[in-house]
Amino acid sequence: MKNKHVERDRSFAIKLMRDLVVPTFVLDAACHVIIWNRACERLTGVAAKDVIGTREHWRAFYDAPRPCLADLVAQGRTGEISEHYATFDKTGDSASGFHAQNWCVMPQLGHQYYLAIDAGPIYGAEGELIAVVETLRDMTEQKQAQTALERLASSDGLTGIANRRSFDEKLDHEWLRARRDKTPLALLLLDVDHFKLFNDRYGHQAGDDCLRRIAQCAAAIVLRPGDLVARYGGEEFAVVLPSIDADGALRVAQRVREAVRGLAIPHADSAFGVVTVSVGVACVVPSLDTGHEVLVKAADTALYQAKHAGRDQVAVEPLLQATKPAAQMPPL
Ligand code: GH3
Ligand code: MG
Ligand code: MG
Repeated sequence: MKNKHVERDRSFAIKLMRDLVVPTFVLDAACHVIIWNRACERLTGVAAKDVIGTREHWRAFYDAPRPCLADLVAQGRTGEISEHYATFDKTGDSASGFHAQNWCVMPQLGHQYYLAIDAGPIYGAEGELIAVVETLRDMTEQKQAQTALERLASSDGLTGIANRRSFDEKLDHEWLRARRDKTPLALLLLDVDHFKLFNDRYGHQAGDDCLRRIAQCAAAIVLRPGDLVARYGGEEFAVVLPSIDADGALRVAQRVREAVRGLAIPHADSAFGVVTVSVGVACVVPSLDTGHEVLVKAADTALYQAKHAGRDQVAVEPLLQATKPAAQMPPL
């Protein structure tokens, strides 16, 4: 009689889990799938009959073998969560479970989903692990909206390249990294020559188009993944070049200058007949005593020199002396 009750309770529990609207699967302590509910079938496109009793549940989410969050919990490998997930909740523990988020390939569906994942262990009367329950939430739309917002907040509305805010963040970040690694950091400041005259003759709209073309042109020249081309302000652009010496930075600057001239945008009020830029280059191995203002100021000084020397020019302020203690630095 008692067995009958237990059996009824058990099938009730399984039915509850199976029809639960939250995509859920359950592993036993040896990581075999014991429950794969209907919502999980709908989310992944993988049928329960194809996965129950196996350890192949990763196939529903990824195209190469790797542990799911429930596997890491079942195997006591929660220290490895950060290696496998885009974000995870560091406060996770066996009482509250573990939370992580990831882009999943979802091979059966053929398009990626961003999933929020919770995995919690279930213990038996003796404190032994008997199962791990993993629940999934499709966060793709929220993630895409968040990424679009971030992109909007970090890009310049006119040109589409990074805005001043991203430039400031990037420079902060690269400055600290270069200081830690004792590597050089270079900065280019570009300013469009006689741009006021361009606007006056061709109109503000043509001026905007010109800025867009220059931005795209500079972005196409600066190719290393760690580099950043940003709109610094009005008709000024900045390029952050980590781990490059002054000669290397000078070569990049020359390529950008030549490429802008090569766009051959007519500018009847310039001695060159086409739109050109002047570029100031500065390069430094950051010291402990200085902030990145030193680099910006030096690039600005170099830009002034390039303008003064006749425009459509590149000038350099090597600034390697900033590696010495601040007290010994010559005035800029
Ligand atoms: P220089 O060669 O010394 O740099 O001369 P310049 O005329 O380029 O310098 P100035 O600073 O006198 O003028 C900059 C001009 O850039 C004036 C401003 O109207 C224009 N400008 C700034 N931002 C924008 C923008 O977003 N769109 C357009 N069309 N023009 C802009
Ligand atoms: Mg200017
Ligand atoms: Mg200008």
